[in-house]
Formats: sequence, C-alpha cells, structure tokens
Amino acid sequence: MPKNLVIDMIRLREAMSGNSDLTLPEGLFCQSPNSNGLKTIRELATFMFTCRKCEDAPCIAVCPTEALEKDSDGVVTRRTNLCVSCKSCVTICPFGTMMTDFFVHHRNRELFYNLGDEDEVKKFIDACPAGTAYLTDDGESPEKNIYRLNEKVLIREYLYKTEIK
Ligand code: SF4
Ligand code: SF4
Repeated sequence: MPKNLVIDMIRLREAMSGNSDLTLPEGLFCQSPNSNGLKTIRELATFMFTCRKCEDAPCIAVCPTEALEKDSDGVVTRRTNLCVSCKSCVTICPFGTMMTDFFVHHRNRELFYNLGDEDEVKKFIDACPAGTAYLTDDGESPEKNIYRLNEKVLIREYLYKTEIK
C-alpha cells in the first residue's frame, strides 16, 4: 500500500460549497468509545495550514469557554472537552478558515475511520467525495501545494504567506 494519504482540502471545500447537506467522513488516528471528543485530521489540517494565524486571533477572543488557544508554534488548538459547539469562532473568523460542520458532535460512529489501520484508510477514501483523498508514494511537494501534516498524512492546501520587503 502506498505510504502517504493525501487529503485535498481545496477539493473538499469545492465539494462542500453549495452542498450543505454533505456529511464528510472523518479520519482519526485512534478509535475510542468517545470518538466525538477527538480531533479529526481535517481539524488539525485546517488549523495547521488553512488558518492565517492572526496575531490577535478573534476566534480565541470570542470563544465563550476558552476552548481555543495557541500552541508554542502559534497554531490554534481546541480543547475538545471545553468546546460547546456554539460555532462563534466559525462565524467570527474573517477568513472563513473553518468549515461550517467543523465542530458538530457527530453521533454517527460510522463516519469515523481509524487512519492507523490500512483497511480503514481504504474505506475512508471510498467514503470521501471523489478525488479529495488518495494514496501516494510521493512526499511533500510545495509546488503542488502539498504539505506534510504527520508521518502518514499529506495535506493539499493553499498556504497564506506575507512578504515583508
Ligand atoms: S465552537 Fe467551540 S471552540 Fe468555537 S467558539 Fe464555540 S466553544 Fe469555542
Ligand atoms: S480568526 Fe480564523 S484565521 Fe484567524 S487565527 Fe482564528 S481561525 Fe485562524
């Protein structure tokens, strides 16, 4: 089996736009009876690559439960045990970083796939909208907007960059 799973965030957004009923499968790296509380690969990828890492981070300021914070690298993280899924952070983000279904507590366990298991990875790919997840032996490729999230997952996303001249 090819060693890397690519999740194409650009195509995922295209698939979701105009299709508010679309329910995406979620990839995790472990299974537990409390899957609802685990952060998904899509959430990790969004905060790592899509988020513009605002200095004053209005998403953090607006959160009523102080569930959001920045880690030592300046990447926003969510404490899932504090999040009440109010979506205030989704609404206030000036860049539309977060997908609207982001913090929904899925009750359907069948939506979750353990990305540490080869068979589950294949099922996850089959459950994703066509072309939004696939396997490859290729590695990170910035010229193709493909970046490494962790040792098994690559993310295709447009990175936000500022140039100081
Ligand atoms: S959805 Fe969760 S993280 Fe976002 S503002 Fe509400 S409580 Fe905070
Ligand atoms: S407001 Fe949006 S872009 Fe800014 S730090 Fe929060 S999630 Fe990232």
